[in-house]
Amino acid sequence: MILVVEAVHPFCNAAGRLCYGCTIVLHTSANFFKPPYLIFTTRRPTIGAYICWFRKFLPMKPTKGYAAQSATSPVAPFQFERRDPGPHDVQINILYCGVCHSDLHQVRNEWGNSMYPMVPGHEIVGRVTAVGDHVKKYKKGDLVGVGCLVDSCRECRKCKEGLEQYCENGSVGTYNSLERDGKTPTYGGYSDTIVTTEDFVLKVSENLPIEGVAPLLCAGITTYSPLRHWKVGKGHKLAVLGLGGLGHMAVKFGASFGAEVTMLSTSPEKEADARRLGAHKFALTKDPQQLKSLANYFDFIIDTVSAPHDYNMYLNMLDTNGVMICVGAPPSPAAVQAFNLIGNRRSIAGSLIGGLPQTQEMLDYCAAHDIVSDVEVIDIKDINESYERMLKGDVRYRFVIDMKTL
Ligand code: NAP
Ligand code: ZN
Ligand code: ZN
Repeated sequence: MILVVEAVHPFCNAAGRLCYGCTIVLHTSANFFKPPYLIFTTRRPTIGAYICWFRKFLPMKPTKGYAAQSATSPVAPFQFERRDPGPHDVQINILYCGVCHSDLHQVRNEWGNSMYPMVPGHEIVGRVTAVGDHVKKYKKGDLVGVGCLVDSCRECRKCKEGLEQYCENGSVGTYNSLERDGKTPTYGGYSDTIVTTEDFVLKVSENLPIEGVAPLLCAGITTYSPLRHWKVGKGHKLAVLGLGGLGHMAVKFGASFGAEVTMLSTSPEKEADARRLGAHKFALTKDPQQLKSLANYFDFIIDTVSAPHDYNMYLNMLDTNGVMICVGAPPSPAAVQAFNLIGNRRSIAGSLIGGLPQTQEMLDYCAAHDIVSDVEVIDIKDINESYERMLKGDVRYRFVIDMKTL
């Protein structure tokens, strides 16, 4: 019977930080002080000593957060450690973090790639509390943001083009991902602090309400990026499918870029809000009568729906050369009838968040045009209830956690 496991190493002062070279002592006797013991080292002590020595220069900071421990457990308080800022790192005190439907998909392992414990959150706004010696762009006190990415290879063609989200060597997600070392898990914004390289930190205007800026870091860029890519604007008829976090930002950007915007929603009670946000028309997708006049009507549909739905119904609303841009990521595959594409030379496309340069461009555009997300600020202890409300489409239009409540 194994009773106690101990880790001892001359340079390793924290028992929780088992390193290569640590000697592990398994007490296999009922009496703690008596043999038999099983003693072994994890690797050659020389390597261990080197790593322990190196760690002395990379101290860790205790961090408070909320995490999911499994696909079925609620998100609950969790203590972990962040590295102290390295030479190129920025340390940020998180003020607000938005709640994306992707958090819910991943907490519940709906995409099948979840790693636990998981600290979700990739819509982060906060103030810089420390910077590494080589950091050029930021200083203590700056208002900054972190979105869905915290690193990428920075060498491949995509990274060089500023499309880090499509990095050929795998970009590093803000959570549910591994750092470039391939073994350190990343933990997201449902926490008091984050430390990340300055290249993945964004400048945030002091002139906007910051709780409304947080969702721009994912919901904002995910809708801004494809609308810019397909040059949606004046003279175009744009449909936005689903009025949630992404959907309401798509309405704001679509209207701001000059397109005629139609909201396609399952929720009749959201019509007034859709119009206030900038939609020119509203159609209830549950009512076939309302959809009749929209056949072959749109140049673009941006689909933000999080749950399985019938793509064919919407494809039929596209005019010749129309494009349905899928940003919503339902967990199960959808059947697409080829004739719905062939008939009008329509396309179905997708888009993933946005690269770092375009995310900064989007934040600057929002600051110049006074655009923020419409938010409901919540206490972090209400996060699980917020997920349930999000599942019912009951969000106006993004939950944002006030990190003071942590
Ligand atoms: P959200 O706030 O929950 O909004 C989703 C909206 O979709 C709901 O408010 C609802 O709007 C509509 N909807 C929900 N269930 C539906 C159903 N069964 N049929 C039709 N409509 C339905 O979610 P979100 O944060 O905007 O995220 C939306 C999706 O985008 C998620 O799957 C998320 O993972 C994904 N996402 C993708 C990217 C990317 O890079 N591509 C980035 C972020 C998020 P109505 O009440 O108006 O119908
Ligand atoms: Zn997101
Ligand atoms: Zn790359």
